[in-house]
Amino acid sequence: MAPTAFHPDDHAKPWETTRRGLLLLMSSPAGAGKTSLSRRLVADYGDMILSISATTRAPRPGEEEAREYFFKTRVEFEALIAADDLLEWADVNGNYYGTPKAPVMAALEEGKDVLFDIDWQGARQIAQTAPLDSVRVFVLPPSWSDLSRRLNARAQDGEEVIRQRLALGKSEIAHWSEYDYVIVNKDFDRAYADLIHIYRAERMKPGRNPWLPDFVRGLEAED
Ligand code: 5GP
Repeated sequence: MAPTAFHPDDHAKPWETTRRGLLLLMSSPAGAGKTSLSRRLVADYGDMILSISATTRAPRPGEEEAREYFFKTRVEFEALIAADDLLEWADVNGNYYGTPKAPVMAALEEGKDVLFDIDWQGARQIAQTAPLDSVRVFVLPPSWSDLSRRLNARAQDGEEVIRQRLALGKSEIAHWSEYDYVIVNKDFDRAYADLIHIYRAERMKPGRNPWLPDFVRGLEAED
């Protein structure tokens, strides 16, 4: 199935530009494919931006400042907290991670959607702050051995770090039932098609389309 068959821009109508943006919160254990799924969605849909988080963890090989994360010292991060510049923040395995507030607010004002690659604590905080705008998606691996294989194959981390990330993953999946949707990522293309279905359907909710009442009034007024 070609995922582009569901592209909303194919059906774009002028009045859809007034729609209300949504917050797509994606969580998973590391290695389940959440990052690839979310980067692909952002690349394919011009209406969606990826929230770039701030973190105190060190960059991994290949990661770039302002592409994967804004890399901060603990002092810099604590200054962001003190200035109320973060929408949410959490301690994940001894490092701070948080969502800068300003880019999210600016995107929503422009009617754009925002995708968050975020742990369960952050997803919970944002969903509490903006319950009507939040859509939560959890990505599961098809098996634990598959997840372990994927983390080892990346060769980004040493053995001890991989062991820690797997342990952290177990505590992450304990929260799966707090999410609106769950995708089991056995096959990337199928998982991506599922993600697009979720996104497309959520965009069609009446509350996200403030142009609808006027549009329907117009229909009712026609003979
Ligand atoms: P990693 O170090 O593997 O990039 O990320 C570790 C965990 O932190 C992942 O579960 C990731 O989704 C989460 N994370 C990344 N950015 C944020 C954020 O801004 N806030 C919160 N709460 N978690 C985040």
